[in-house]
Amino acid sequence: MNDALIALEARVRADLARTAHPDAAWLAPRLGQDGRPALDVLVVGGGQSGLATAFGLMRSQVTNILVLDKSEEGYEGPWLTYARMHTLRSPKAFTGPDLDIPSLTYQSWHEARFGEDDWRNLDLIPRGLWAEYLLWFRRVVGVPMRNGCEVVEILPEADGLLTAKVQTAAGMEIVSARKIVLATGQEGMGDWTIPEPLSHLPSSLCVHAAQPIDFDRLRGKQVAVIGAGAAAFDNAAEALEAGAAEVHLFCRRAEIQVIQPYRWLTFRGFLRHFCDLDDAWRWRFMRAVLEMREGFPQATYDRCARHANFHRHDGAPIEAAKETDHGIELRTPRGVFSADFVICGTGVDMNFSGRAELRNCAANIAIWADRYQPPADERSPRLGRFPYLADDYALMERIAGETPWIADIHVFAIASTMSFGASGSSINAMTTAVPKLVHGLTRSLFRADIERHWASFKAYDVPQAIVERQTSAAGEEP
Ligand SMILES: Cc1cc2nc3c(=O)[nH]c(=O)nc-3n(C[C@H](O)[C@H](O)[C@H](O)COP(=O)(O)OP(=O)(O)OC[C@H]3O[C@@H](n4cnc5c(N)ncnc54)[C@H](O)[C@@H]3O)c2cc1C
Repeated sequence: MNDALIALEARVRADLARTAHPDAAWLAPRLGQDGRPALDVLVVGGGQSGLATAFGLMRSQVTNILVLDKSEEGYEGPWLTYARMHTLRSPKAFTGPDLDIPSLTYQSWHEARFGEDDWRNLDLIPRGLWAEYLLWFRRVVGVPMRNGCEVVEILPEADGLLTAKVQTAAGMEIVSARKIVLATGQEGMGDWTIPEPLSHLPSSLCVHAAQPIDFDRLRGKQVAVIGAGAAAFDNAAEALEAGAAEVHLFCRRAEIQVIQPYRWLTFRGFLRHFCDLDDAWRWRFMRAVLEMREGFPQATYDRCARHANFHRHDGAPIEAAKETDHGIELRTPRGVFSADFVICGTGVDMNFSGRAELRNCAANIAIWADRYQPPADERSPRLGRFPYLADDYALMERIAGETPWIADIHVFAIASTMSFGASGSSINAMTTAVPKLVHGLTRSLFRADIERHWASFKAYDVPQAIVERQTSAAGEEP
């Protein structure tokens, strides 16, 4: 570690100490089943959202917490696995997990690591460095976290606790917690999608963009990429750079979408107060945003367009696909195309029952379609499947009373977006959205303990000053 980083870490410790008020502990230990200590909050997922949530909780003196991630240390989230862009797409000035502590920002870390000039000259943050920064953040803040731990089931337990079954290399463990936060990423409430006309193809011929892909094997091959968002272009670029003979990118819209709606909504008012709007406004905005899908940056496009063997087909949804002796035949309104391999950059869909950790409540999680009927010109069955969350990001019941325990499961992921706007799965929204989540968690923990707080207050007898008892002029006590 260089001197500047050592100095920065000292600054972080000093900043945290100076802003620690109020630092009194306020939660009492609880025992879970079999007499094991229960956590106050279990955070599932140790990507940037899980880390920032843990940090926010620790700053609120909720320290009996644990973050679990199924991946190996350093490989949380997409950054070193399926993200295939060279740099982040968000501007370098967007702050995130630091929660407004200047010494914890990416900029501070970058300047300490590479110098201020390097930061000034930096265009966008290389994704490998973002991953490295997150690891540094986790260490310097002291997030209690374990890797190689997959939460495979959540169940209700006695006394308002939840049980999480955790698969580890050593076997199954049981963790009890008062609250569980699912910071499980974009696919956390469902999975990445392969469009229906392609879904019958074997995975040797067709994958989605979040799967591992051996791009070297695509050298000299005809590659089809479905979708025209940033991830689709990233995968097309990887294939081109790996020496694919031709890459054909199929965009279902008549015209490719080049607007980035998330840029428009990046202002405090929207980020902070979107969730206070009524259902009609929330639906109208987020349907418009999520139906547009995210636009891609110039560099992402240029990385493909500079190759003469890159071909884009707009207005070309896949109508049918069949396996042939030579590969795959794709039928579109623009004609029939052959490919050796197909990569789908077509986003995620909600599918609660497909997630092991949700299997005991999937059928009773309220979704937007249960709670709000949009006007005919604003309908979207895909977005209607997003969870309809309470104001503290908690799951709500479709039928009240069947699974009341899900009110202690809080979702901070792309699935939170219909209810909260940009929130989980976004660097951009973190500084506004994580404090809101932490506020919801602490509010609920505080309310649940109100009898204990009242008893504690009534028993409080610590004098703040020592005063002499008054005596009357006659020398008697009054
Ligand atoms: C390719 C790509 C590029 C992106 N680029 C940008 C960008 O440039 N700028 C931006 O603002 N946003 C970007 N995003 C959006 C967003 O910032 C990322 O998706 C980011 O990773 C979200 O962080 P997260 O912590 O919510 O989820 P993740 O980083 O996905 O972390 C979720 C974690 O949960 C773990 N997990 C899941 N289920 C379980 C379980 N049952 N038990 C234990 N662990 C579990 C996973 O292993 C994973 O590590 C990008 C997204 C993608 C997919």
